Amino acid sequence: RSNAEKFEFQAEVSRLMDIIINSLYSNKDIFLRELISNASDALDKIRFLSLTDKEILGEGDNAKLEIQIKLDKEKKILSIRDRGIGMTKEDLIKNLGTIAKSGTSAFVEKVQTSGDLNLIGQFGVGFYSVYLVADYVEVISKHNDDKQYVWESKADGAFAISEDTWNEPLGRGTEIRLHLREEAGEYLEEFKLKELVKKYSEFINFPIYLWASKEVETEVPADEDESNDEEESTSESSSSEEGSEAEDAEKSEDDEKPKTKKVKETTSEWELLNDVKAIWLRSPKDVTDEEYNQFYHSLAKDFSDEKPLAWSHFSAEGDVEFKAVLFVPPKAPHDLYESYYNANKSNLKLYVRRVFISDEFDELLPKYLNFLKGLVDSDTLPLNVSREMLQQHSSLKTIKKKLIRKALDMIRRIADEDPDESTNEDKKDEKSPDDDEKRGQYAKFWNEFGKSIKLGIIEDATNRNRLAKLLRFESTKSDGKLTSLDQYISRMKPGQKDIFYLTGTSKEQLEKSPFLERLKKKNFEVIFFTDPVDEYLMQYLMDYEDKKFQNVSKEGLKIGKGAKDKELKESFKDLTKWWKNALSSEKVDDVKISNRLDNTPCVVVTSKYGWSANMEKIMQSQTL
Ligand code: ADP
Ligand code: MG
Repeated sequence: RSNAEKFEFQAEVSRLMDIIINSLYSNKDIFLRELISNASDALDKIRFLSLTDKEILGEGDNAKLEIQIKLDKEKKILSIRDRGIGMTKEDLIKNLGTIAKSGTSAFVEKVQTSGDLNLIGQFGVGFYSVYLVADYVEVISKHNDDKQYVWESKADGAFAISEDTWNEPLGRGTEIRLHLREEAGEYLEEFKLKELVKKYSEFINFPIYLWASKEVETEVPADEDESNDEEESTSESSSSEEGSEAEDAEKSEDDEKPKTKKVKETTSEWELLNDVKAIWLRSPKDVTDEEYNQFYHSLAKDFSDEKPLAWSHFSAEGDVEFKAVLFVPPKAPHDLYESYYNANKSNLKLYVRRVFISDEFDELLPKYLNFLKGLVDSDTLPLNVSREMLQQHSSLKTIKKKLIRKALDMIRRIADEDPDESTNEDKKDEKSPDDDEKRGQYAKFWNEFGKSIKLGIIEDATNRNRLAKLLRFESTKSDGKLTSLDQYISRMKPGQKDIFYLTGTSKEQLEKSPFLERLKKKNFEVIFFTDPVDEYLMQYLMDYEDKKFQNVSKEGLKIGKGAKDKELKESFKDLTKWWKNALSSEKVDDVKISNRLDNTPCVVVTSKYGWSANMEKIMQSQTL
């Protein structure tokens, strides 16, 4: 086209497109849900803007917030159209030519080796999945602030943008036209599209229509000659005079053929494919597990086969009213802890009275619960204020508090329902089909999100005890499995006051530690903390259920009272004195007689309030 301006894709986009085009094994179906998800995002955006500016929606069809899918079997074109916010020329160049989200290059690397594109939507590059099925794509878009433009590309490293002077005006929104590849013919079948929408886009909050063919029965005039013959024959057959009138009347009612007949015809009309049911508004008892599963997948853009580990669906009443659904995903996202202290992005979607407001609302959950997915819909928050104003709203504090409480309950339930977690040995081996689904789920949770719980203990003083209950670790008595503080306490020896632990880099290293000798011999249990974050954790976790934590590599360890402690101290006084002088005060604070050892003659311990040896190591590795 003469007025087309040519652009090159960012190198990374080009690389991604090459992978997509050549991907043989990927599930090609995913492109449709990505396009529908983009359409839905665009509709959310315009609806949000319309809260403060009614005019923005326009009138008539323009104001209809919906998604339309159309097929052109002859030209092999599938088009998806929305009346969302649309894109200006600048938007088209930026959004469909460069990659904005961080972490995408890691994704491209991964796709290159695994060939699995299923997670594409989570990486902010879902649009490009159109090239799984199309070799030429046009994006026609009209934003309120600009003219209508066409973006087009054959995925050959370049795209073109032209002012649209030939298509019908869209009013507002975006239409994506996919010129399907030869082998993607199945996407021209209506039943296939219906199936895909049902499967992946059931919970989209805007109506999705398909221009679908429909067989209708219409009445057309019946053949006239035929009915005349019949009528004649009836009148001939009537012979008797008497009662003939009555008989005639009866007969004609029976035999008279209708003046019209029914014919099947095929026409097309908009068929609604989804229910637009806000699952969170329904009563939890009316929602099936399968529906929660599907809702999770669509909310989290996680289309793996794995189910969420848990969910919680509840409503709060009183001063602050809201409904919420929370999910624990089956897997941690790749970058959960990467940008922990910089990016503060909660994964909850905030709705106010059914209207989507934002999914970047930091004030809903504390950082350590950022791994949760879900949604909050409040009737208490005001609708027609800016995001910034909303962020300051006093109700948010109440909402946040309740969400945390419910989230921790939900996580605890994973443990409570997991037979492997049971302290009751009988229950552990009990077999029921229900248990089988729940078995091992907490270990799985811990493996994926344990670090978040630890960060929670550090950051959230109010819920520290609740979080400590969720803590899992190995110990000298855990037999290679994970155990909890409650289980530790249940195994404590009579008279044992403290909870013993040791920190280090691995369990193997700790098991050989001389600090354990005596404790092991006396049959005390010692917790192994081997994650670097554990050192920080134990600076915040001072006690649990009135029991103090005691690092066994630090001074002050008391393992019962030795009767001869005083005597020994006296008789070795000269030795300890000499030793302390020999080492000088720069190297050690003190030299003492101890009862913590068994085979090893001496050991270096750290002072009670100083860093443990392991902590020194961690700090050194960070400054180097
Ligand atoms: P993501 O949706 O995660 O941002 P995509 O690759 O799916 O990533 O889309 C890239 C961007 O293109 C979107 O963020 C949006 O700005 C823009 N976009 C895509 N489709 C539409 C649409 N139908 N209407 C408006 N903007 C769109
Ligand atoms: Mg998208």
